[in-house]
Amino acid sequence: MQLSLQKWSFGHFPFTLQLPTMRNYLVKTPRLLKAVYNSCIWHVNNNANSVYLTFDDGPHPTITPFVLDVLNKYNAKATFFCIGKNVIENPEIYQRIISEGHAIGNHTHNHCNGWKVDSLEYIDNITQAANYIQSNLFRPPYGRITASEIKGIYKNNPDMKIVMWDVLTGDFDINLTPEKCLKHAVNSTKPGSIIVFHDSEKAFKRLEYTLPRFLKHCQENGWQLKKLNY
Ligand SMILES: [Zn+2]
Repeated sequence: MQLSLQKWSFGHFPFTLQLPTMRNYLVKTPRLLKAVYNSCIWHVNNNANSVYLTFDDGPHPTITPFVLDVLNKYNAKATFFCIGKNVIENPEIYQRIISEGHAIGNHTHNHCNGWKVDSLEYIDNITQAANYIQSNLFRPPYGRITASEIKGIYKNNPDMKIVMWDVLTGDFDINLTPEKCLKHAVNSTKPGSIIVFHDSEKAFKRLEYTLPRFLKHCQENGWQLKKLNY
């Protein structure tokens, strides 16, 4: 397999790493990165048999209901990191997420990239989303956030929890087959894992295939699917 140097896609940190070509994200978060960003939540500790599904970028008018139906079928709870703008456009879907007992989190107002704006603008964008999303959970879009933005978030709201992940399924990767996406999810998940999926159009081809099979896999392992509870 050909290797090339690729930049890590999370954290404002001057890391480069040997990765297979064509993929500039890591399925499994390395321990070192977790240590550097140790004020963020990467997985849930002391967890014997629970895993934590998260869905970013919704609510979406058809894909989020698909996700909710599959979750219901497996009696699973999850956490939805919503975009403020999408909540304004799909208020009934947003209410359905809450009324079915899932957790919600803030994912900025318009999927703001923390590397492209300054801290003040970033915090403003999160605050704008917070008008529609009442939650102390926050996940940075693209996982891109700077140290000063992290500081700004805690200053603005000391109760805020910044939630990252330890398994990135790659469902957003249009070059990834649905089978490979499932393999990523199955191979990297262990009890306590926080797993990222997307309720978005870009991800749907892989999400549609992977989600039910992944939930079945969790069920067969005796793992409970829980929402984040902070
Ligand atoms: Zn996102």
